[in-house]
Amino acid sequence: MKVIVCIKQVPDTKGGVQFNPDGTLNRGAMLSIMNPDDKAGLEAALRLKDEYGAEVTVLTMGLPKAADVLQEAIAMGADKGVLVTDRVLGGADTWATSTTIAGALRKLEYDLIITGRQAIDGDTAQVGPQIAEHLGLPVISYAQEIKVDGDSVIVKRQYDDGYHMLKAKMPCLITALSELNEPRYMTPGGIFDAVNAEITTFGRADLVDVDDSNIGLKGSPTKIAKASDKVRKGAGEKVVPDSPEDAVNYIVGKLCEKHVI
Ligand SMILES: Cc1cc2nc3c(=O)[nH]c(=O)nc-3n(C[C@H](O)[C@H](O)[C@H](O)COP(=O)(O)OP(=O)(O)OC[C@H]3O[C@@H](n4cnc5c(N)ncnc54)[C@H](O)[C@@H]3O)c2cc1C
Repeated sequence: MKVIVCIKQVPDTKGGVQFNPDGTLNRGAMLSIMNPDDKAGLEAALRLKDEYGAEVTVLTMGLPKAADVLQEAIAMGADKGVLVTDRVLGGADTWATSTTIAGALRKLEYDLIITGRQAIDGDTAQVGPQIAEHLGLPVISYAQEIKVDGDSVIVKRQYDDGYHMLKAKMPCLITALSELNEPRYMTPGGIFDAVNAEITTFGRADLVDVDDSNIGLKGSPTKIAKASDKVRKGAGEKVVPDSPEDAVNYIVGKLCEKHVI
């Protein structure tokens, strides 16, 4: 069984978010981490490796430094890494990103593709389902539990007020939630393997069935019209009424004042 996990290197937003003057993220000024949903997806793949001997490949698209996230994944137990990087791929929106990743996946063998539900920087949750659409695969999103049953996967899918139990024949794509599991730590042996691990690099020429009009900034239909900080709300007003009647009168007065009622 061959599993490919798509991993995005994202800025660590815990220490605050830094912006460039044009409103884009200043990625260089922030530490980079493995996207949390993707780490859970990787852990799920590693459990399939432990249980069924699955081969786990991790794939990322990004700048050459995104290779770090592949090495971290190999130190956790992944077998191989694929870095998709090329100048012409820069500035990609979700459409161009998923087109590119699908083009790279066409060059690889897989039974199961796992992506995170969403990346903590772009936050769109579009890339996983878009990849499935490009490749003509069934997709199960919001996975909280993944089991293999012969040539199918059975997935517990988080839903608003409950769960769906879904079965899909492989090959298929699953998007993982960070609640899926507790990812393992890197092992000393794994770190040693990661240093010597071979990471395959794909450039534009390696992408299969991908048109130039669908890659990079030029192939990105999403245009950012404006980016701005959120206006912070004020501290609010604290009122201690003498009685419930006073409280009601006060609230009704305020609502009338603002023409809400
Ligand atoms: C005009 C424009 C230009 C942009 N330019 C850049 C840029 O130059 N550099 C940049 O980093 N971002 C850029 N972005 C942001 C970029 O579009 C998104 O971050 C990217 O397309 C993924 O979308 P997302 O983060 O919402 O991912 P989601 O759809 O939320 O991600 C879902 C899952 O898809 C997988 N995935 C997503 N992206 C990748 C990836 N790169 N590699 C592997 N797996 C992935 C992961 O498993 C992830 O959990 C740009 C956006 C726009 C609109």
